[in-house]
Amino acid sequence: MRYEVTTPKRQVAMVLDLNKCLGCHTCSVACKKLWNTDSGTDYTYWNNVETHPGRGFPADWQQTGGRTATGDVKQGKVPNLDTEYGRAWQFNHKNVIATDASSKKKDWLRPKGDPSWGPNWDEDEGTGTYPQDNHYFYLPRLCNHCAEPACLDACPRKAIYKRDEDGIVLVNQDRCHGYRFCVEACPYKKVYFDHERQVAAKCIFCMPRIEEEVAPACARQCPGRLRFVGYRDDEDGPIHKLVEKYKVAIPLHPEYGLKPNVFYVPPMSPPKLDDKGRPTGESRIPMSYLEGLFGKEVHRSLEILHAERAKKKQGQSSELMDLLIAYDWNDNFKLDNPKAREVI
Ligand code: SF4
Ligand code: SF4
Ligand code: SF4
Repeated sequence: MRYEVTTPKRQVAMVLDLNKCLGCHTCSVACKKLWNTDSGTDYTYWNNVETHPGRGFPADWQQTGGRTATGDVKQGKVPNLDTEYGRAWQFNHKNVIATDASSKKKDWLRPKGDPSWGPNWDEDEGTGTYPQDNHYFYLPRLCNHCAEPACLDACPRKAIYKRDEDGIVLVNQDRCHGYRFCVEACPYKKVYFDHERQVAAKCIFCMPRIEEEVAPACARQCPGRLRFVGYRDDEDGPIHKLVEKYKVAIPLHPEYGLKPNVFYVPPMSPPKLDDKGRPTGESRIPMSYLEGLFGKEVHRSLEILHAERAKKKQGQSSELMDLLIAYDWNDNFKLDNPKAREVI
């Protein structure tokens, strides 16, 4: 089933520069503390940060869901709570605190039970051979507030909708009957199920903050200053410059066909080394891997980034590099929206 999604008056969007992510998880914690600490959502992370190459969160999320060639929502699956999401772990804090400092037998902090997966299970593992081509990078992920959301199409209750004033995709939990078709359908696995309240729950793009023209918590708290937030149609704003003007910010898995409104500046990796330790000029992160995540546009994006960086190194000016450096974090966000104020 495919429902009509009307084009919103404006579309709010986010760009994340993967060259600057520290993997600190401040974004995930900021989101979680603000929006979902209830027991039914303890396993969920509306924002998560995963290491690539890696299986991600939930494990192997890239292998299910999306659309068919004719545009219909593919039948995905609900990830398993133990083996693909990983339950919120309980720890042996009491035993550790009770350990006598003089005792030879120490009890180390460890999770109770025998967990087999979790949000950061394969963090920093990466791949390759040191020192020739070992590599990894961080990929922070949140709902893409897609222009053509599969979650919305999949809901027979029409409980999911896209706001007219800013294009944020929301769940009306009063209408939701907990069928989880949206969880199955979202190929990014960014709708979760609240096991306590038996309803779907997802990133709300910090909608109450957006209404006050304040950046989302995950973006505002990011110490790497790598997140940019604004409206797609604001030609003076960072989103328009990075996506439309310089074309360096590109969506994750464009081939899913959902037209995401979260974009990424892909990672520029150092070169591989030969067996004598000399740089070969070949990208340490294989281009085939980046193409698998971001599609063919990643080649053009990286070419532009390398060219602009070279200009900056030679002392020439580069609006793009200045924007990405983010000298003043206030410049990362431009959220004035008189049109939204008319609607609210
Ligand atoms: Fe829906 Fe998933 Fe797109 Fe978010 S990323 S709007 S949950 S289809
Ligand atoms: Fe969480 Fe807000 Fe970021 Fe969405 S935009 S992931 S709700 S902090
Ligand atoms: Fe990366 Fe910023 Fe999140 Fe830290 S807060 S993990 S730097 S996106």
